[in-house]
Formats: sequence, C-alpha cells, structure tokens
Amino acid sequence: MAGRAGSFVEFALPAPLDGGKHRSVTPQLNDLFKFLRFPSISTSSSHAPDVRACATWLVERLEDMGLLVRLHETPKHPIVIAKNAHKPGRRHVMIYGHYDVQPVDPLELWESPPFEPEIRDGKIWARGATDNKGQMFAHALGVDAMLAENPDLPVNLTFLFEGEEEIGSPNLAQFLVHNCDELKPDVIAISDTGMVAPGVPTLGYGLRGITCCEAILRGPSGDLHSGLFGGSVANPASAIGRLVASLHKIDGTVAISGFYDDVRPLEQWERTMWSHVPGVSDMDYLTVTKSPGLYGEPGYSTMERVSSRPTAEVNGIGGGYQGEGSKTVLPSEAFAKLSFRLVPDQDPKRIMELVAHHLEWNCPPGVRIEIIPGHDGKPYITDPNSTYGLAAQEALRAAFDAEPVLIREGGSIPIVQTFRDVLGADTLLLGLGLSDAQIHAPNENFPVENFEAGIRLNQALLKELAK
Ligand SMILES: [Zn+2]
Repeated sequence: MAGRAGSFVEFALPAPLDGGKHRSVTPQLNDLFKFLRFPSISTSSSHAPDVRACATWLVERLEDMGLLVRLHETPKHPIVIAKNAHKPGRRHVMIYGHYDVQPVDPLELWESPPFEPEIRDGKIWARGATDNKGQMFAHALGVDAMLAENPDLPVNLTFLFEGEEEIGSPNLAQFLVHNCDELKPDVIAISDTGMVAPGVPTLGYGLRGITCCEAILRGPSGDLHSGLFGGSVANPASAIGRLVASLHKIDGTVAISGFYDDVRPLEQWERTMWSHVPGVSDMDYLTVTKSPGLYGEPGYSTMERVSSRPTAEVNGIGGGYQGEGSKTVLPSEAFAKLSFRLVPDQDPKRIMELVAHHLEWNCPPGVRIEIIPGHDGKPYITDPNSTYGLAAQEALRAAFDAEPVLIREGGSIPIVQTFRDVLGADTLLLGLGLSDAQIHAPNENFPVENFEAGIRLNQALLKELAK
C-alpha cells in the first residue's frame, strides 16, 4: 500500500493542463477542467461543501453566459436551474444533467488523480468526465457559443442540473411537483447514456425498469454444530440455493408465473435495425465482458435480450461461514439479494407481487422466509420517430456527420419516468459515453472528440427543436 500511495503523490505534482501530451487545451476544455476539479461526491457527507462549491461555480458560469440562474436548496444538495428569457410561442426545451459524481476509491488504481483532469490519448481522464460533467457541460457550452453569436436562443431553454443523481435523486421528484407549472417543458433532452461505438451517434428511446428485493431464510435460532445437528433440521443455505434456482427454467427464461404477461413484443423494425447496429454483436459482448460464454433467454439476440427483454438477477447470496478454511456449521440464516430488470409494459409493483408469491410458494420446507422489498422504477419507451425524435436524429446526424442508430438502453434512469409522470414530457436520450468510459470506476475518461461533438449536438438540437 505504501508504495502505491507513494506513486500517487508523484502523479499529484503540478503538471501542464494537458499532461504535456497529444493536444493543446482549448478554452472550452479548460472550462470543463475547472468543473471537473470539484470533488462533488454526493454520497459522502464530508464532501457536501465540495458539492455546494461545485453548484456555486456552475451558477456563476451559467450567469456569465447570460442565463437567468437560480440555486434551489433541497434537504441535501442544491438544484441549479438556468433559463434564457422565455417568450411565448416558442418550444420549451429542458436539458437535464447532474453535477455530482461517484466516489473514487480504490484511489491507488487511478493512473492520474481523479480530480486533476488531464488529457492522454485524446481522452479527458477525471472522475465525472463522462458521468456526467463532461456530457452536461458540453450542452452548457453549446448554449454559451450560441449566445455569443446571438443573445437570443431559438427556443425557451431550461437547464436543470441536480447534485443528487448518484444517490438516487431523493429530492428531485418533489422539486418537480412544487415547480411543475414553471418547469413544464415540451420535451426533455439528457446526455447521460452511451453510444454503441465510437463515432456512431446513438438515440436512446427506451429504458428498462427495475424492482428489487431481499429474501431472508431463517432456520434454527443460532448457528448449529453440523455433527450434532446435521440431518435434524433444514439448512437455510441449502434452501436459499434451491429458491434462487427456482427463478429460472433450464433454458434461461424466468420461471415466475405471469412474469412475461405484460411484455410488449419487439417490433420488426427494431429487430432489423439492431441486427445492423455496430458494437453490440455477440462477439462485442464477449470482448467487453471477457466472459467464457453468453447466456440468456432463447429466441433473442444478446442485444435484444439486454435492451428489450426482462430478467431476474441474483445480485448477492450468502449465509454461513465465509472465513478461511472450513467450519462445520449449520447456519441459522441465509439471504439472496434479487433484482428484476423490466420492460414496457411491465409494472414494478405487480411484478414484485408475482415475485413474492413465487418465493413463498417455492420456499423449501423447514425454514421461514422474509421478503424485504427494495427500490423500483418503471420501464420507459418513447417514439423515436415523433417530431422531437426526428429532430434529435437530425441533430445527431449534424453533430457527428454520420447516420444515427436507435436503441433501447438496458439500464434504468427512474427520473425519466418521473419527468413523464410529473411534467408530462418525453425525454430524448442523446448519449455521448463510450463502453470503456470506466464510469463509477477508476480511470473514468471521455474522448475529447465526444465532448466537442456534444457542443455541436446541443446547438444542432436547439435549432432542430425550434422548427
Ligand atoms: Zn453515474
């Protein structure tokens, strides 16, 4: 550890902004670097002053652009709202992003300090470079460039930047409810997702939902000696294994009765399009995951399974002795942490009822089961060929000079559904991140060319949405 810490100190010495390598730092990159230097880690109370300092810097920077900016307090980290002067008769476009970041440990695995951004190999290396500071700030700088040319924008614009995305946006929904009339946009754009491959502009029009729970099986009141009691009572660790195994059929489909009832079938154009999307072939998934093989529901490609089919996953399982060597114990309890990725039109609450019924019905004899529900979020889908969807496609085409692909994301962004429920507006997902961006991990990075494309994308998007 000491040796590693030593090498970290060496990296922390002052260096040229671009690390002296590969390219010069433009004023726009320099601006982004200032933003990236704030350790705005929302989950850590010791970083609360840094989160606030980051929000304050953002407010000042957006005011410099000529926007009307307000910092809204929440019980935790502030929300920043910035607008141009709204005029009647124009489209109202909201752009959402988040200025908070994930923690950085294990720190010793970073090749350069996470809050000292530098450029190597054409990429910006820093915590938040892709998720989400680099992507959201590209939008801010797009607006900055437009306002420098013309003090009026073609649309009524609202930036909504929050500081709690990485902790589940606990205060955003209430903020939206309280400020609904003022905020209500025609359409929302978010750049906080991915591109399927470098240089391939990607419009996301769907997200999977989620529901989670923990199942705890309890047997004897305390751990027992397996010699004195083995064979006398049920073993909760064996029982949890059988219970978890009951979730799937041998072929990989989910065995919970009614689980697939409300799944919206894939449309033929989606299957045709996705069969041509680069970066999502079976070989790509093997390369990215380095797994010895692919596995999942039969009848669907890997891309189709990830983006448009529901799953049941075991996120953690445990019980009994976990230490070195063996210990002849019959554990008193065992647990499994489960999550279910959901697709349109599955309802998370209904699915959790089906899950609970399945777990209780299949619970082996001799143990008691407790099911603790976790968080959930609805799946989301919008029409990529709506007026707004077509405008987004045109903007992506202009920014990247390439034909965009349309995908559904496998992940979940619950606020997108909240925006629809509270503000009544759909969201366009204009992701700029790449699969090797290392978000939430050491050595997070963002290609400079994607940052610059993001600035162009913002300008093209506002022009297209004004039409
Ligand atoms: Zn994140």
